[in-house]
Amino acid sequence: GTTVYYDADCDLSKLEGKKITVLGYGSQGHAHSLNLKEGGFDVTVGLRKGSKSWDEATEAGFTVKETADAVKGADIVMILIPDELQAEVYAKDIAPNLKEGAYIAFGHGFNIHFEKIVPREDISVFMVAPKGPGHLVRRTFQEGSGVPCLVAVEKDPAGDAMEVAKAWASAIGGGRSGILETTFRQETETDLFGEQVVLCGGVVELMKVGFEVLTEAGYDPVNAYFECIHEMKLIVDLIYEGGLATMRSSISNTAEYGDYLTGPKIITPETKEAMRGVLKDIQSGKFADDFLADYKAGQPFLKEKRQEFANHGVEKVGAELRKLMPWIKK
Ligand code: NDP
Ligand code: MG
Ligand code: MG
Repeated sequence: GTTVYYDADCDLSKLEGKKITVLGYGSQGHAHSLNLKEGGFDVTVGLRKGSKSWDEATEAGFTVKETADAVKGADIVMILIPDELQAEVYAKDIAPNLKEGAYIAFGHGFNIHFEKIVPREDISVFMVAPKGPGHLVRRTFQEGSGVPCLVAVEKDPAGDAMEVAKAWASAIGGGRSGILETTFRQETETDLFGEQVVLCGGVVELMKVGFEVLTEAGYDPVNAYFECIHEMKLIVDLIYEGGLATMRSSISNTAEYGDYLTGPKIITPETKEAMRGVLKDIQSGKFADDFLADYKAGQPFLKEKRQEFANHGVEKVGAELRKLMPWIKK
């Protein structure tokens, strides 16, 4: 089976005495920085001046510097700024200031795998990708546990990049639940596929179109929202806790019968073929290039889609119904 590493398999001395810089103080950045700092490590946060993140990191007690300054003299630079910005920030602020023999690290393999960042030969390159959002990386650490992490090495001139990656994963809490080795290619392509086909793209479109079919057929949007959107979490929570069988043992036989009968009518062989097409575009780098082209053009596609969804009835009904559920945190 897969080798899983825990704290006892990780050598934290790989980080001791090292000057560590974390670039970005968003979802992942704040979690990595705070967890490392509380472990006694020497962390500087690198940001652009005058931003919200700058104030937050300062208030949390970090030494905060502008990106270029934060990179100067650092032994390890963890790059946790948005994927679409990394290549230009790397060329302008990181590469010229990166000391000989430094390590650079990522939370997602996108820029290295698609060769948008090509580091110098003396630079070691690793990844620590927590399999959960940043706020969970932080919260579980504070509670004494942690989010499982994937680790990978792309370039290893120093010869110990995997040891450094495991130490980092352990220091942010990953070694309390499990650290698994992967490659930049595996992590990048499966991450993109999962979020596009299943987790975000697939699920949201399924919920939205289900809601449309019911409301267009004259049903009350309130019922449509509860059935097609709100209850998704309850079902997913059961799968999360015990797999598909646990979920199916909890729903009615009526629901289970309809589940087997109807699922394959919705996710058809054509749907599977479309998924394969999405995977091809991810593997070829077409998706990566399209995403970066949209960013360079001022994000017209992202902006249009955000607007389209903001005006969709599903969001208006949802906002009203959530007011009836005060236990849902704002
Ligand atoms: P966020 O958007 O949450 O945060 C980005 C941070 O970068 C902010 O603090 C932002 O500060 C800062 N930033 C933006 N531009 C610059 C710049 N030019 N120079 C310096 N700092 C800048 O990012 P995420 O944490 O979501 O993503 C970071 C990485 O982690 C990505 O590679 C992502 O794929 C990966 N990842 C993210 C996960 C998640 O849970 N979100 C899960 C696993 C991996 P400000 O805008 O205030 O200036
Ligand atoms: Mg992702
Ligand atoms: Mg029902």
